[in-house]
Amino acid sequence: MTDTVVRYAPSPTGRLHLGNARPMLLNWLFAKARSGRYILRLDDTDVARSTEEAALGILADLAWLGIVPDAKVRQSDRTALYDAARDRLIAAGRLYPAYETEDELDRKRARARALGKPPIYDRSALALTEAQKAAFEAEGRKPHWRFRLDGKPVHFDDMIKGPQTVNTTSMSDPVLVRADGTYLYTLPSVVDDIDLGITHVIRGEDHVSNTGTQIEIFEALGGPVPLFAHHNLLTGADGEGFSKRLGSLSLSDLREAGYEPLAVALMAVLTGTSLPVEPFPDLLAAGQALDLSMISHGPARFDPAELDTLNARILHAMQYEEAAPRLAPLGLASEPLWLALRENLTKFNDIKDLAALVNGPVEPIVADEDRDFLAVARDMLPLEPWDAGTWALWTTGLKEKTGRKGKALFHPLRLALTGREQGPELKSLLPLLGRTECLARLP
Ligand code: GLU
Repeated sequence: MTDTVVRYAPSPTGRLHLGNARPMLLNWLFAKARSGRYILRLDDTDVARSTEEAALGILADLAWLGIVPDAKVRQSDRTALYDAARDRLIAAGRLYPAYETEDELDRKRARARALGKPPIYDRSALALTEAQKAAFEAEGRKPHWRFRLDGKPVHFDDMIKGPQTVNTTSMSDPVLVRADGTYLYTLPSVVDDIDLGITHVIRGEDHVSNTGTQIEIFEALGGPVPLFAHHNLLTGADGEGFSKRLGSLSLSDLREAGYEPLAVALMAVLTGTSLPVEPFPDLLAAGQALDLSMISHGPARFDPAELDTLNARILHAMQYEEAAPRLAPLGLASEPLWLALRENLTKFNDIKDLAALVNGPVEPIVADEDRDFLAVARDMLPLEPWDAGTWALWTTGLKEKTGRKGKALFHPLRLALTGREQGPELKSLLPLLGRTECLARLP
């Protein structure tokens, strides 16, 4: 079997969003499961829209999600390869110069529509004589270059969607090279996939019709055709697709908002599959459970509430060893503290606020009608050493002595000890506070 080589190929034209993390991670998990290689390819042939800032942002996003590519390439470094492929396609008669301006093409499309025909390019450039071409050139026109499609339906077996047919007869011959000589995405992608030995192309289903064109180009260049897997796209709850302009769900914003990378990664991968969105211990464990065949054919709707829940569940299960390096800079590296407080976290940094309940200062809340009760509670506070059983010991005695139960028994204790209506279980908090601090907080 050939070794698996996959690529993740974002365009560095903006910030990546949650939807972009889906192919990023599906490729990664696919490669990991097969001990394959993962190549990051920056599709930066669109010079006007590509920026260095976006490229750095992509690297930061990958690192945050725990991905270490085996190789990184940039299309802007590889123009010579595309030029060679372009020349071969020209020589083979598959790439032809066309001289229409945007306006002329618009008019042709409008005319076709008016006649009730699909607005497909009419290939009139194929009929140009050498003299006509020379006349255009003399006018100062530069050609763009179109790939001559074969006119036969292209079939391929998609690893997610099953057998697919792309009817290229209903498509315009695609422009591969702009009039200024720069390349659109289609050709460089194929050239790179051949050159880098890509065995599997895993990408969004918005690329299915591109695949029809690209398979023809692979064949015209004599390269092996990789296997394709087109996954459903993540959408918002309303079914609207994410766009790079949708700021709040950019990976960098999710990072800044304090989400765990694992929560974000699991949401990106598991939403819209037959696997439940569960707090897998790590991404690779999710990858082992997930097969491409489990990706559903319908849309993958992202539910922000589900991200919050998942994030919390990951924190609630997080072992101290994992949390400790992040607690240390906050001065909170204590295992009992972590174990007592983690179940109340929705974001990791909530720990700062919760730890203030333990470390103080706390302003006790004491209602007048509870004053006598709290005085009894103070008297009955058990002697140390304290453990997880101290709370039950204390409150059982108090219940017998005062006749209070339920909320009337517990709530005044919480208000006095923490100064808040809600919070972590007092059973866990009590041993962290210790007797002296409790005495100080009880009136
Ligand atoms: N740059 C393309 C994109 O971001 C890559 C598509 C592909 O994986 O071939 O959509």
